Amino acid sequence: MSCDIGSSRGGGVPNAVSIDVEDWPQSVLDHDLPLTDRFYSNTHKVLEMLARHATRATFFVLGLAAERAPQLVRDILSAGHEIQSHGYGHRLIHELTPAQLRADLDRSKKLLEDLAGQEVSGYRAPGFSITQRTLWALDVLVEVGFRYDSSIFPVLTRRYGIRGAPDYPHRLGTPSGGEVYEFPVATCRLAGRRLPVGGGGYFRLFPYFILRRGVQQLNRRGHPATIYLHPYEFSPRELAELDLPVSWKMRLHQGLWRARVPMRADRLLDEFRFGPIRDLLDRAADWPKYRHR
Ligand SMILES: [Zn+2]
Repeated sequence: MSCDIGSSRGGGVPNAVSIDVEDWPQSVLDHDLPLTDRFYSNTHKVLEMLARHATRATFFVLGLAAERAPQLVRDILSAGHEIQSHGYGHRLIHELTPAQLRADLDRSKKLLEDLAGQEVSGYRAPGFSITQRTLWALDVLVEVGFRYDSSIFPVLTRRYGIRGAPDYPHRLGTPSGGEVYEFPVATCRLAGRRLPVGGGGYFRLFPYFILRRGVQQLNRRGHPATIYLHPYEFSPRELAELDLPVSWKMRLHQGLWRARVPMRADRLLDEFRFGPIRDLLDRAADWPKYRHR
Protein backbone atom coordinates (compact mmCIF):
# COMPACT_ATOMS: atom_id res chain seq x y z
CA MET A 1 0.00 0.00 0.00
CA SER A 2 1.38 3.45 -0.75
CA CYS A 3 1.51 6.00 2.02
CA ASP A 4 2.30 9.67 1.88
CA ILE A 5 3.88 11.98 4.39
CA GLY A 6 5.88 10.33 7.17
CA SER A 7 5.76 6.94 5.55
CA SER A 8 9.03 7.19 3.69
CA ARG A 9 11.54 5.80 6.15
CA GLY A 10 14.33 8.08 4.99
CA GLY A 11 12.41 11.33 5.36
CA GLY A 12 9.33 12.77 6.99
CA VAL A 13 8.83 13.57 10.65
CA PRO A 14 11.08 11.56 12.98
CA ASN A 15 9.23 9.41 15.51
CA ALA A 16 10.33 7.93 18.83
CA VAL A 17 10.58 4.29 19.86
CA SER A 18 10.86 3.54 23.56
CA ILE A 19 11.31 0.34 25.56
CA ASP A 20 10.33 -0.12 29.22
CA VAL A 21 12.96 -2.56 30.51
CA GLU A 22 11.30 -4.67 33.20
CA ASP A 23 10.34 -8.26 34.01
CA TRP A 24 6.69 -9.22 33.52
CA PRO A 25 6.00 -11.08 36.82
CA GLN A 26 7.47 -8.32 39.00
CA SER A 27 6.04 -5.40 37.02
CA VAL A 28 2.56 -6.73 36.30
CA LEU A 29 1.76 -9.65 38.58
CA ASP A 30 3.30 -8.75 41.94
CA HIS A 31 5.76 -5.98 42.77
CA ASP A 32 7.19 -8.08 45.60
CA LEU A 33 8.35 -10.91 43.31
CA PRO A 34 12.05 -11.14 42.47
CA LEU A 35 12.96 -10.46 38.85
CA THR A 36 13.47 -13.57 36.72
CA ASP A 37 16.39 -13.69 34.28
CA ARG A 38 14.02 -13.54 31.33
CA PHE A 39 14.16 -9.77 30.92
CA TYR A 40 17.84 -10.01 30.00
CA SER A 41 17.40 -12.29 26.97
CA ASN A 42 14.12 -10.57 26.04
CA THR A 43 15.83 -7.17 25.97
CA HIS A 44 18.49 -8.66 23.71
CA LYS A 45 15.74 -9.68 21.28
CA VAL A 46 14.65 -6.03 21.17
CA LEU A 47 18.26 -4.93 20.63
CA GLU A 48 18.55 -7.39 17.73
CA MET A 49 15.39 -6.04 16.09
CA LEU A 50 16.62 -2.45 16.43
CA ALA A 51 20.02 -3.42 14.99
CA ARG A 52 18.31 -5.03 11.96
CA HIS A 53 16.59 -1.70 11.33
CA ALA A 54 19.68 0.40 12.17
CA THR A 55 17.40 2.27 14.56
CA ARG A 56 18.25 3.74 17.95
CA ALA A 57 15.74 3.90 20.78
CA THR A 58 15.12 5.19 24.29
CA PHE A 59 15.30 2.51 26.98
CA PHE A 60 13.47 3.41 30.20
CA VAL A 61 15.24 0.98 32.52
CA LEU A 62 13.75 -0.11 35.83
CA GLY A 63 16.22 0.35 38.70
CA LEU A 64 15.70 -3.24 39.87
CA ALA A 65 16.57 -4.49 36.37
CA ALA A 66 19.72 -2.34 36.19
CA GLU A 67 20.81 -3.63 39.59
CA ARG A 68 20.21 -7.23 38.61
CA ALA A 69 21.86 -6.94 35.18
CA PRO A 70 24.31 -4.01 35.01
CA GLN A 71 25.83 -5.56 31.87
CA LEU A 72 22.50 -5.05 30.11
CA VAL A 73 22.73 -1.28 30.66
CA ARG A 74 26.21 -1.37 29.11
CA ASP A 75 24.94 -3.49 26.19
CA ILE A 76 22.15 -0.99 25.50
CA LEU A 77 24.56 1.95 25.66
CA SER A 78 27.23 0.36 23.52
CA ALA A 79 24.63 -0.20 20.79
CA GLY A 80 24.12 3.59 20.77
CA HIS A 81 20.75 3.75 22.51
CA GLU A 82 19.53 6.20 25.13
CA ILE A 83 19.25 5.13 28.79
CA GLN A 84 16.53 6.77 30.89
CA SER A 85 14.54 5.85 33.99
CA HIS A 86 11.42 3.74 34.56
CA GLY A 87 11.74 4.35 38.32
CA TYR A 88 13.27 1.92 40.78
CA GLY A 89 10.69 -0.59 41.99
CA HIS A 90 7.75 -0.29 39.54
CA ARG A 91 5.43 1.02 42.25
CA LEU A 92 2.54 3.01 40.81
CA ILE A 93 2.65 6.69 41.70
CA HIS A 94 -0.72 6.76 43.47
CA GLU A 95 0.62 4.09 45.86
CA LEU A 96 3.45 6.42 46.92
CA THR A 97 3.75 9.60 48.95
CA PRO A 98 5.73 12.46 47.38
CA ALA A 99 8.65 11.59 49.69
CA GLN A 100 8.55 7.93 48.63
CA LEU A 101 8.43 8.90 44.95
CA ARG A 102 11.37 11.27 45.46
CA ALA A 103 13.37 8.42 47.03
CA ASP A 104 12.41 5.99 44.22
CA LEU A 105 13.37 8.48 41.50
CA ASP A 106 16.59 9.54 43.19
CA ARG A 107 17.69 5.94 43.66
CA SER A 108 16.97 4.95 40.04
CA LYS A 109 18.57 8.10 38.61
CA LYS A 110 21.81 7.72 40.58
CA LEU A 111 22.03 4.00 39.88
CA LEU A 112 21.62 4.47 36.13
CA GLU A 113 23.95 7.49 36.02
CA ASP A 114 26.68 5.51 37.81
CA LEU A 115 26.29 2.61 35.39
CA ALA A 116 25.92 4.71 32.25
CA GLY A 117 28.40 7.44 33.12
CA GLN A 118 26.01 10.06 31.78
CA GLU A 119 23.08 12.14 32.95
CA VAL A 120 19.65 10.51 33.19
CA SER A 121 16.93 13.12 32.71
CA GLY A 122 13.98 11.31 31.10
CA TYR A 123 11.31 9.30 32.91
CA ARG A 124 8.35 7.06 32.24
CA ALA A 125 6.18 6.20 35.23
CA PRO A 126 5.22 2.57 35.82
CA GLY A 127 1.74 1.94 34.42
CA PHE A 128 1.47 5.51 33.02
CA SER A 129 0.52 6.42 36.58
CA ILE A 130 0.78 10.21 36.27
CA THR A 131 -2.92 11.03 36.11
CA GLN A 132 -5.14 13.97 37.05
CA ARG A 133 -4.85 13.05 40.75
CA THR A 134 -1.06 12.56 40.74
CA LEU A 135 0.03 15.66 38.82
CA TRP A 136 2.10 16.54 41.92
CA ALA A 137 4.53 13.91 40.64
CA LEU A 138 5.61 16.39 37.92
CA ASP A 139 6.95 18.72 40.62
CA VAL A 140 8.89 15.84 42.16
CA LEU A 141 10.38 15.03 38.74
CA VAL A 142 11.63 18.61 38.35
CA GLU A 143 13.03 18.63 41.91
CA VAL A 144 14.98 15.42 41.30
CA GLY A 145 16.38 16.78 38.01
CA PHE A 146 14.31 15.23 35.24
CA ARG A 147 13.79 17.30 32.09
CA TYR A 148 11.38 15.13 30.18
CA ASP A 149 8.55 12.76 30.89
CA SER A 150 6.50 10.21 28.96
CA SER A 151 3.98 9.14 31.59
CA ILE A 152 0.71 10.90 30.73
CA PHE A 153 -1.50 8.67 28.61
CA PRO A 154 -3.62 11.00 26.45
CA VAL A 155 -6.73 8.79 26.62
CA LEU A 156 -8.66 8.10 29.83
CA THR A 157 -8.81 4.34 30.41
CA ARG A 158 -9.98 2.29 33.39
CA ARG A 159 -6.52 2.36 34.98
CA TYR A 160 -4.79 5.49 33.74
CA GLY A 161 -4.80 8.43 31.34
CA ILE A 162 -6.07 12.02 31.26
CA ARG A 163 -8.98 12.81 28.97
CA GLY A 164 -8.16 15.63 26.55
CA ALA A 165 -4.44 15.75 27.39
CA PRO A 166 -2.42 16.94 24.36
CA ASP A 167 -1.69 14.02 22.01
CA TYR A 168 1.58 15.58 20.75
CA PRO A 169 4.88 16.44 22.48
CA HIS A 170 4.61 19.70 24.42
CA ARG A 171 6.04 21.77 27.23
CA LEU A 172 4.09 20.91 30.34
CA GLY A 173 3.73 23.31 33.24
CA THR A 174 3.89 21.58 36.63
CA PRO A 175 1.54 22.54 39.53
CA SER A 176 4.31 24.56 41.26
CA GLY A 177 5.35 26.48 38.15
CA GLY A 178 8.13 24.25 36.82
CA GLU A 179 8.24 22.72 33.36
CA VAL A 180 9.00 19.39 31.72
CA TYR A 181 8.87 18.24 28.11
CA GLU A 182 6.05 15.74 27.82
CA PHE A 183 5.97 12.93 25.23
CA PRO A 184 2.53 11.31 25.16
CA VAL A 185 2.36 7.91 23.47
CA ALA A 186 0.73 7.77 20.04
CA THR A 187 -3.02 7.78 19.50
CA CYS A 188 -5.23 7.60 16.40
CA ARG A 189 -8.33 9.73 15.80
CA LEU A 190 -11.06 7.55 14.38
CA ALA A 191 -14.81 8.18 14.14
CA GLY A 192 -14.65 11.07 16.59
CA ARG A 193 -12.70 9.06 19.18
CA ARG A 194 -9.07 9.00 20.22
CA LEU A 195 -7.69 5.45 20.26
CA PRO A 196 -4.42 4.56 21.99
CA VAL A 197 -2.18 2.83 19.46
CA GLY A 198 1.36 3.43 20.75
CA GLY A 199 1.84 0.11 22.56
CA GLY A 200 0.44 -2.38 25.05
CA GLY A 201 -2.78 -4.32 24.47
CA TYR A 202 -3.96 -1.85 21.82
CA PHE A 203 -0.84 -2.50 19.79
CA ARG A 204 -1.68 -6.22 19.78
CA LEU A 205 -5.42 -6.09 19.33
CA PHE A 206 -6.19 -3.27 16.87
CA PRO A 207 -5.79 -3.96 13.14
CA TYR A 208 -2.35 -2.83 11.92
CA PHE A 209 -3.79 -0.12 9.67
CA ILE A 210 -5.01 1.76 12.77
CA LEU A 211 -1.48 1.80 14.22
CA ARG A 212 -0.12 3.05 10.91
CA ARG A 213 -2.84 5.65 10.62
CA GLY A 214 -2.08 6.93 14.14
CA VAL A 215 1.55 7.58 13.18
CA GLN A 216 0.55 9.11 9.84
CA GLN A 217 -2.01 11.44 11.42
CA LEU A 218 0.49 12.78 13.96
CA ASN A 219 3.19 13.17 11.28
CA ARG A 220 0.80 15.03 8.95
CA ARG A 221 0.20 17.50 11.76
CA GLY A 222 3.98 17.88 12.06
CA HIS A 223 4.28 15.88 15.31
CA PRO A 224 6.40 12.84 16.12
CA ALA A 225 4.63 9.67 17.27
CA THR A 226 6.00 7.86 20.34
CA ILE A 227 5.59 4.11 20.55
CA TYR A 228 6.43 1.87 23.52
CA LEU A 229 7.43 -1.77 23.78
CA HIS A 230 8.31 -4.18 26.58
CA PRO A 231 11.00 -6.87 26.34
CA TYR A 232 8.52 -9.54 27.54
CA GLU A 233 6.37 -8.81 24.50
CA PHE A 234 9.19 -10.36 22.48
CA SER A 235 8.65 -13.67 24.29
CA PRO A 236 5.25 -14.90 23.08
CA ARG A 237 5.29 -18.16 25.07
CA GLU A 238 6.47 -16.66 28.34
CA LEU A 239 3.08 -16.63 30.07
CA ALA A 240 2.62 -20.35 29.40
CA GLU A 241 6.13 -21.16 30.60
CA LEU A 242 6.12 -19.22 33.88
CA ASP A 243 5.87 -21.34 36.97
CA LEU A 244 3.56 -18.87 38.70
CA PRO A 245 -0.18 -18.76 39.41
CA VAL A 246 -1.50 -16.64 36.53
CA SER A 247 -5.29 -16.61 36.11
CA TRP A 248 -6.79 -17.48 32.72
CA LYS A 249 -8.23 -13.97 32.60
CA MET A 250 -4.78 -12.46 33.08
CA ARG A 251 -3.28 -14.85 30.51
CA LEU A 252 -5.90 -13.79 27.99
CA HIS A 253 -5.64 -10.08 28.77
CA GLN A 254 -1.84 -10.04 28.74
CA GLY A 255 -1.05 -12.78 26.25
CA LEU A 256 -3.60 -12.68 23.44
CA TRP A 257 -1.78 -12.14 20.15
CA ARG A 258 1.46 -11.28 21.94
CA ALA A 259 3.36 -12.75 18.98
CA ARG A 260 2.05 -9.88 16.90
CA VAL A 261 4.05 -7.27 18.84
CA PRO A 262 7.50 -7.98 17.37
CA MET A 263 5.99 -8.34 13.89
CA ARG A 264 4.16 -5.04 14.15
CA ALA A 265 7.14 -3.23 15.63
CA ASP A 266 9.20 -4.60 12.73
CA ARG A 267 6.69 -3.29 10.23
CA LEU A 268 6.42 0.17 11.77
CA LEU A 269 10.21 0.48 11.89
CA ASP A 270 10.27 -0.46 8.21
CA GLU A 271 7.64 2.05 7.20
CA PHE A 272 8.51 5.08 9.31
CA ARG A 273 11.59 6.84 10.59
CA PHE A 274 12.16 6.23 14.32
CA GLY A 275 14.83 7.25 16.81
CA PRO A 276 15.38 7.93 20.51
CA ILE A 277 13.40 10.64 22.30
CA ARG A 278 16.61 12.66 22.91
CA ASP A 279 16.74 13.35 19.14
CA LEU A 280 13.41 15.18 19.39
CA LEU A 281 14.49 17.54 22.15
CA ASP A 282 16.40 19.98 19.92
CA ARG A 283 13.33 21.98 19.01
CA ALA A 284 11.43 21.40 22.24
CA ALA A 285 11.91 24.96 23.51
CA ASP A 286 9.61 26.14 20.67
CA TRP A 287 6.79 23.73 21.49
CA PRO A 288 3.43 25.00 22.74
CA LYS A 289 3.02 25.13 26.50
CA TYR A 290 0.16 23.35 28.27
CA ARG A 291 -0.99 23.07 31.84
CA HIS A 292 -3.57 20.66 33.28
CA ARG A 293 -6.36 22.31 35.29
ZN1 LIG B 1 6.52 -0.76 33.35
